[in-house]
Amino acid sequence: MPAFLARLPELRAWGFNVLVCCAGLALFVLACVEAFADAGTVPWAMCVVGVVLTVVISRFPIVIDRGDGGGIEIGFDSSILMFMLCTLDLPEALVVWSCGVLATQVISDRRLSSKLFNIGVGILAGFLAGLVLVEVRGDSIGTPRELAAVALAAAAYFLADLVLSAVSVAISTSTGLGQHLLQRQMLLALACFVPFDTLGYLGAMVYRSQPWWTVMLLGGPLATLLVATKAVTRGSEHARRLTVLFDAALRAQTLSDRNQIEEALVADARRLLRLPEVALHSSPPGRGEIGAPVQRRGMPSWVVAKAKERARSTIGADEQALRALTAVASDAFARLELIDEMVHIARHDPLTDLPNRGILLDRVTDALARGRGHEAPVALLFIDLDGFKPVNDRFGHAAGDQLLVSLAGRLRALVGGAGTVARLGGDEFAVLFEDLGHDDVVGVCERVLEAIQQEVSIAGHRISLRGSAGLAVAAPGDSAAGLLRNADLAMYVSKEEGRGRLVEYDASIGRARLERLELVDDLRGAIERSEIEVVYQPVLLVDERRIVGAEALARWNRRGRPVPPDVFIKAAEEAGLIVQLGDVVLRKVVADSVRLREAVDGPFSMAINVSARQLAEPGFVRSIEQATAEAAGVTLILEITEREGIDVHERMLDAMHAIRAAGVEFAVDDFGVGFSSISYLHDLPVQVIKADSSLSQGIDTDERAWALLRSVIAMGHTLGLAVVVEGIERESQLELLSGVDGPGLCAQGYLMYRPMPAEQLIATVVADRQDADDRVG
Ligand code: C2E
Ligand code: MG
Ligand code: MG
Repeated sequence: MPAFLARLPELRAWGFNVLVCCAGLALFVLACVEAFADAGTVPWAMCVVGVVLTVVISRFPIVIDRGDGGGIEIGFDSSILMFMLCTLDLPEALVVWSCGVLATQVISDRRLSSKLFNIGVGILAGFLAGLVLVEVRGDSIGTPRELAAVALAAAAYFLADLVLSAVSVAISTSTGLGQHLLQRQMLLALACFVPFDTLGYLGAMVYRSQPWWTVMLLGGPLATLLVATKAVTRGSEHARRLTVLFDAALRAQTLSDRNQIEEALVADARRLLRLPEVALHSSPPGRGEIGAPVQRRGMPSWVVAKAKERARSTIGADEQALRALTAVASDAFARLELIDEMVHIARHDPLTDLPNRGILLDRVTDALARGRGHEAPVALLFIDLDGFKPVNDRFGHAAGDQLLVSLAGRLRALVGGAGTVARLGGDEFAVLFEDLGHDDVVGVCERVLEAIQQEVSIAGHRISLRGSAGLAVAAPGDSAAGLLRNADLAMYVSKEEGRGRLVEYDASIGRARLERLELVDDLRGAIERSEIEVVYQPVLLVDERRIVGAEALARWNRRGRPVPPDVFIKAAEEAGLIVQLGDVVLRKVVADSVRLREAVDGPFSMAINVSARQLAEPGFVRSIEQATAEAAGVTLILEITEREGIDVHERMLDAMHAIRAAGVEFAVDDFGVGFSSISYLHDLPVQVIKADSSLSQGIDTDERAWALLRSVIAMGHTLGLAVVVEGIERESQLELLSGVDGPGLCAQGYLMYRPMPAEQLIATVVADRQDADDRVG
């Protein structure tokens, strides 16, 4: 729209105001001509007093509240007009009145267009009132008719003012005239206006019948009335504004939506200022506008009101009130921002700012609801980092955190709009895919695994990880939790199958999981009922071929059938039951050791397998100390078995040293395979190496295998450690071991003894000692 078109209503209003002013001035000139035709009769003193009183009294209007946020302003200066009309000739009275109007507007601080309009309206309404009064009164001076004429004149004045003002507002706002004419409380305003104007008539009556100075007696009450009116008007305006502010403050507490706050703010600003044109802008107020800023994070805004017609003196107060109102709104926005922030914190991972498990589940639920009947399936990827724990241990938690943050960034960038990346906790992440075909999902998953493997530089170290990933595609009727569990199960299969790859969930994985859960349930019951049995496999000193100790091995018969120890020990470790299982085994070993001690003389060592997790248990040191005290005379050896690699930390080392102090020894089990690495010999206070059976398997057929085992034995001896070789099944293997130089090489295997119950062990050891004694004897 061209600029001048936008300003058309404004220009039209200007035109109208100028027209009204010109009409008024024309009448004024006419009255002057009439009055000065008989110049000798102009009462100059009265003129001056009349003008001054008009100016003064016009400063004390009252405002009647319309109840809709607006107000009707009533000036009492027209009572001077009535006085003049009743004491002077019509032209003289109108000249004096017009001068008063001109003076009032000239010194007022209104804007020019408003001043012009007020001049015109004042003079025109004054003329109308004068004509009505003269016509109705006729010659009846000092009669009730004259009083009625004055009242009608006052009403005519009021209505002329009202009509012209309504036309002006209608033009400038391009609205219908009717709504401005028929205002609420108008009759009340008229009822206030007319009696006050008749005070002017009262003054005239006094002036006519009494000496002129007696009129001054009216000045006192009049002044008091005006001052009181002003005070009341001001007070009620204050009270009104405060009410608006109170209401706004109370309401603001209950609003929980940004749009509601904005709407309430604009409506309250309209009520507060009694201005119709109020809006929220993104820029500060311009010319002819007033406004106050609203504090909103990242979104500067101002409440702006068009205030062209506003007296400059009230603009300061208006802006102050507006600022109070916007402070209330700013508080309401701040409250919502805080709530948003709290919700964000509660639903996001603080380290990476990725959505957490709660949000992910909500989004999966939504996606499943949306996805019903859709082609593209909802799919969930579950990732667990491989080897994250060692990074934390080696480089510290800060480096670990940095790695997670960098990985989160890479995943977010890679997945982009194709899915939602979430951190489920620790080193677990998930990605939700919607609206993506199966092949595309698998493609993104593969790229995610590649992104995880990217080498990054953290705290001066080049680190790269791998991730095990499980993908589950939603089937009809799946829940969010079910889908997450399926993806988790598939991830476990990936871990079991060698890590670093993607496994997609299918029903067989679910069945296996169900079986595993039942197994864990049964195992828990068996541990609680102490149904875990212990068998013992004797350990032989190779040189002398005699039994020096035994290894305690756990056995579990589930529903009458033995479960392989590897299976139930792993299940116990994963289900967090290994500590309880270890307790049951330890108690039985102690009881059996006491019986063995009673039957057998001489040194005997009893090896017990313990998981690294048990070592860190708070009560473990205590229970081992108790066990050594009870089984005095039998040396306990704790074989540390760990499939996942031992997380060597201070608490564990402290426990090991305390246990060592109680005379217990430590062995590294399954040495030579998996995670049982040479570094444990360095990090842990161990006295025994148990060379894994895989090392002894082919020694009698493969020269290299024998060389390898020999070097392990030699290393153990060099470090001052005892060595036990496991898995001896053939005489030829034992023969080879007999030829090794050095002290105290031990062996364990089916060739010599299979694991056996406690009674059989005791009998076997008794017989073995007897044999040895006989040989010596
Ligand atoms: P391990 O500590 O290395 O135990 C030695 C395993 O080798 C035993 O298997 C034993 O029966 C087997 N074995 C002994 N001689 C021979 C042989 O000549 N040839 C072959 N092929 N195997 C032989 P088992 O009893 O099945 O135990 C398996 C693993 O379960 C143990 O390996 C140990 O890591 C774990 N385990 C057993 N009992 C406990 C326990 O009470 N607590 C913990 N934490 N782990 C246990
Ligand atoms: Mg062992
Ligand atoms: Mg072993």
